[in-house]
Order: sequence, then C-alpha cells, then structure tokens
Amino acid sequence: MAVDRIGRSAAFCDGGGSVSRAMTGIEWTDATWNPMTGCTQISAGCDHCYALTVAHTKTRATYLAQPPVVLTDRNREDPFAPRFWPERLDQPLRWRTPKRIFVNSMSDVFHGHFSYAQIAQVFATMVRAPQHQFQLLTKRPDRAVRYRRQLPWPPNLWLGVSVESMTVAYRVDRLLETHAAVKFISAEPLLGPLDDLPLAGIDWVIGGGESGPHARPCDLAWAQGLRDACAGAGVPFFWKQWGGRSSKSGGRLLDGVEHSVYPVALDMGAQP
Ligand code: SF4
Repeated sequence: MAVDRIGRSAAFCDGGGSVSRAMTGIEWTDATWNPMTGCTQISAGCDHCYALTVAHTKTRATYLAQPPVVLTDRNREDPFAPRFWPERLDQPLRWRTPKRIFVNSMSDVFHGHFSYAQIAQVFATMVRAPQHQFQLLTKRPDRAVRYRRQLPWPPNLWLGVSVESMTVAYRVDRLLETHAAVKFISAEPLLGPLDDLPLAGIDWVIGGGESGPHARPCDLAWAQGLRDACAGAGVPFFWKQWGGRSSKSGGRLLDGVEHSVYPVALDMGAQP
C-alpha cells in the first residue's frame, strides 16, 4: 500500500532529528521536561492516565521521597500527589540544540496544588530558553486565564487544552482567552465526535486513540471528522496514533495518510 505523508518533510519541517526524538516515545515532541509531577483525574480523558500508572509503579519510590506541595498525610503517601522539583528547572537550559519540549508530561502545570510562584518559575525557564518550543498541555485552562496578565507568554510557548469529547469543548473557549502565542488542541484519547469543535483562533490540532490494556476504541468516523474539520478551517493536523494495547498497535495512518504537520517550524539555528 502506498503511504502519503503530510508534514515534516514538507512546509512544516520538524527539524528535530531522530537523535532528540529518541528522548521520548511521543510522536509530536522531541523531549519531555517534568519540573512538576502528580495530578488529579478531572474528566473522562483521565480515566486511564499514563502518568498515574507510572507514578504508582516505575517512579513510585522516587516520587514518595519528595515531599508533596500540599503537606498532608494522605498526600505524603500518594505518589501521584502534586510535587515540585526545583532541581529540574534548569534542565532545558542545558539542552543547547533546539527541541520541541513537552512540559509536564507527568502533571498539569495549572493544577490547583501548585502555587503561582511555582508556576512562574516554570514559565521563567521557558523565557530563558528561546531556542526551544515548549508544548504545555492542560485540562485546567481557567487558571491560565486567571494568570494571563501576570505570567510572561513568550513566543516559544505553545499552550494546548485536552478535548477528548464535546463535553469538555468549553476548554477551547478558555484557551482563546489566554495570551499564548500558539494555541492548540489535543484530542487524545479521542472518545467521541468532534466535528463541531470551534477551531477559529486555533493553530494546531493533535488527535489520537487511546492506548493501554483498557484502551477505549476510537471510531474511524471521529478521526475523519476531526481531520476534515481541520482541513476546512485551515488548521494544521497531527494524527498521533490509533492506539490499542500499545501505542504502536494501530499505527499512525488515517485513510492511508500520515498526518504530521506542525504549526511552526523549529528553527535549528536558534541560539540559547
Ligand atoms: S489531567 Fe492529565 S496528568 Fe492529570 S490526571 Fe488527567 S490525564 Fe493524568
């Protein structure tokens, strides 16, 4: 079967290169940076949260050795309670080669446990590393709106909201109220049709099915509808995966096409 590719090698060259991409298995980013960890499930998209699973297994001992930001007995014993890691704040400054960096893949920067001062420190690092593109994804855009005047919003910061179904489409309205230079939607895990998602003012859409042992199926029509809505609105579209038992189970092709378009090219000549 012939495979068409949209993106990367075309107008929206990712420029990240395979070396840096090896730092993460997430197709739309080059590296992850976690100055915060831990979260609380908030909507259906969280039901099989990968970060929660990892916190209770692989990183459990490491997380429990760090005090939670809200010091209660319950939080001390919960590896997924929000934790702040000041020693990780400078990590992107040490990466001199430009990268796309997923901020807090194991948390949500706007979770209510994190103080404004802690959030501001994360933003300060992004300001100090203009060579990178920071991809910050939240399910709590209300708090981003609350801080839209206090926080710096550098041009290399992409703010996204998770929208797994139309039930939480209101997050897009909040996103549009922020001062983020690049605004995107992550429709992963895609749990229902999003054909009517408002896309005016949106710069990028990522979609994908769920993966893991309890993955909920992703309907072909939902993926096609999202792709077509993006095409109609002229919004770059990235289809991450179909999902299934593993993230690679179903591959990445949607109607035989790989969709890997980014909203902004990564400038490999950008200086720290
Ligand atoms: S918001 Fe993200 S990190 Fe937090 S519980 Fe939901 S899926 Fe997990």
